[in-house]
Amino acid sequence: MKYVSTRGAAPVLDFDDVLLAGLARDGGLYVPESWPTFTLDQIRALRGLPYDQLAAKVMAPFVAGCMSEDELAAMVADAYKGFTHPAVAPLKQIGPNQWVCELFHGPTLAFKDYALQLVGRLFDHVLKKKGQRVLIVGATSGDTGSAAIEACRDRDAVDIVILHPKGRTSDVQRRQMTTILSANVRNLAVEGTFDDCQDMVKALFNDHSFRDEFNLSAVNSINWARVMAQVAYYFASAVALGAPDVSVSFSVPTGNFGNVFAGYVARQMGLPIDRLVVGSNTNDILTRFFETGRMTANGVVPTLSPSMDIQVSSNFERLMFDYVGREGAAVQKLMDEFRKTGVMSMPQGAFAAMCELFEGHRFDDTATLGLMRDIQARTGESLDPHSAIGAGAGLKAILRADSPMVALATAHPAKFPDAVEKATGTRPALPPHLADLFDRPERYDVVANDLGAVRDYVSAFVKGRR
Ligand SMILES: *Cc1c(COP(=O)(O)O)cnc(C)c1O
Repeated sequence: MKYVSTRGAAPVLDFDDVLLAGLARDGGLYVPESWPTFTLDQIRALRGLPYDQLAAKVMAPFVAGCMSEDELAAMVADAYKGFTHPAVAPLKQIGPNQWVCELFHGPTLAFKDYALQLVGRLFDHVLKKKGQRVLIVGATSGDTGSAAIEACRDRDAVDIVILHPKGRTSDVQRRQMTTILSANVRNLAVEGTFDDCQDMVKALFNDHSFRDEFNLSAVNSINWARVMAQVAYYFASAVALGAPDVSVSFSVPTGNFGNVFAGYVARQMGLPIDRLVVGSNTNDILTRFFETGRMTANGVVPTLSPSMDIQVSSNFERLMFDYVGREGAAVQKLMDEFRKTGVMSMPQGAFAAMCELFEGHRFDDTATLGLMRDIQARTGESLDPHSAIGAGAGLKAILRADSPMVALATAHPAKFPDAVEKATGTRPALPPHLADLFDRPERYDVVANDLGAVRDYVSAFVKGRR
């Protein structure tokens, strides 16, 4: 499988290099040169398979030419063996034709584990083959950092440093990062804000001599391998509900558009999906887009669903690419317009075609708490604020869909205990594997909000490891 950039001006790469590259050199995102497809019989044959076996079959075409199906299957099995539910991504029914797919049974209780647990193993595999090591540096306000650290801990060819704003993450979120004492992991508590952390990470990436010396890399949500790994649970849910002989719809709480884009990929591969419904919080750039055909960036406001507090949805570029006829130059033009004016209009025909598949619904914090309370009271299912927005979007759309609606639950309620308690009156408990989280020793280093100090820290750490 070869990969091309959405802006059409970067080298064509194979899977190994796309994995390590992250962003393409022309500023675009990598996508497969063409979508692999499964026949109806091939999809039927996925029914009843254990999650890891199904996932390996779904992903195999994307790594073809770089690793064997057996190598991939072994990594996939290893990635999901620690998940705490035997179904890995179990379905729960919450209404006559409505289901929740629980994507929070991984080590850090958020759906990001489903991709990152595999991506960490893929990095190690590809780097060993190439005889290289990487340094992963990232900034986090909470969820992503812990999922990335869990995925990279103890990997031979990977070192990882995560910056978080000191005192500004929740205690659960901090401890999920700082109680990992592996030799290849460092946590930096920066005396500043999340934006300060992010700016310093960007500055390190823009420092080309630093970047090349340490082989700097990222596992952020524009990495193609993360999208690829997420396609699997769309197939798993759909075949469990009778696909391909039944069409299924999905509702997805959305930030960077990575998760819901994986649903689009599943559909391109032949999975019968009727609708993909996007749930937004007050930061509703996508819902406004699907209402108007115009993308306009506003400022970010903090909400109860912080992992969706984004200004622009970076993965949306991959969808645009397909809907403008896979013309990199057309995407480049639209992105230039957006950067210059803060507004971007999709061509009318492309927008109309998108609306045949996608729609969006928004929920502010009050509405989100109401959804959490209501769903818990009616069904007993306790949802975190992100998952509730996904389920709420599905409920709004369900009248127009004659197919089962699957809402993706992206975080465990115990990750957001304050919001859940506020909505339902009950404080959710951490699952058994994290029950002693507050008794575990922590390790992190405090650094000044100063790029030089961070750079010195990181280079001393990596030099000691190589
Ligand atoms: C990251 C995240 C999201 C948003 O996912 P995208 O792929 O960025 O759309 C939603 N919910 C939770 C809990 C998350 O951690």
